[in-house]
Amino acid sequence: MSVSSYQNILDILKPYGSRLVAVSKTKSVEEIRELYNQGQRDFGENYVQELMEKETALPKDIRWHFIGHLQTNKVKFIAPFIYMIQSVDSLKLLHEIDKQAAKNQRVIFCLLQIFIAREETKFGMNETELDSLIITVNQNRQNEKFSHSLISGCMGMASLTENQALIHDEFKRLREIFEKIKTSFPSDPVDTLSMGMSSDYLIALEMGSSMVRIGSLIFGKR
Ligand SMILES: *Cc1c(COP(=O)(O)O)cnc(C)c1O
Repeated sequence: MSVSSYQNILDILKPYGSRLVAVSKTKSVEEIRELYNQGQRDFGENYVQELMEKETALPKDIRWHFIGHLQTNKVKFIAPFIYMIQSVDSLKLLHEIDKQAAKNQRVIFCLLQIFIAREETKFGMNETELDSLIITVNQNRQNEKFSHSLISGCMGMASLTENQALIHDEFKRLREIFEKIKTSFPSDPVDTLSMGMSSDYLIALEMGSSMVRIGSLIFGKR
């Protein structure tokens, strides 16, 4: 863990008002605790089993963000403690999150994961899927469903490329989608545009990111 690069990132984020999620997947409890001792409270994880073990071992005031692909049948394991699920990519998953959050008498903040990259391998919804989700959730809201899963915004990953202009355009599109989500869910706390990782967070900040997810730049290579 590099304290100087951590502080440096915080200094860069400050004028943008952007928040940092420290992505700690594959990193040890000791490494996470070291960053926690520097004041970091938001951590991102990709795997359910790994997250559960870390949650048990670490302080309870950590806000855990789930950022990996989440299977519906695993939501129940993280529902008792997860702060935000950034990888909501289907109505079915949102339904299950709402159900499990209600069971635990909690609210779970949700980001809709949007597919913006060129690669085929990235998860997320396209705009057509997003539009149909918006319609269904708003219909159900009138029957008081989805009151335990609050839509806070969206998350996306740009293409893995050296082409800065392409990354720029993909983030610009995500910001436009974020604006659409904001107007589509007027009663939700839609304030989070999660975009930018170690390699592209400077471009993301320029394009209006309010939350960056940074792993290797803080913790070193995985
Ligand atoms: C691993 C991961 C990150 C962090 O990637 P780095 O390149 O290490 O900063 C960010 N977002 C998601 C969704 C990830 O899976």
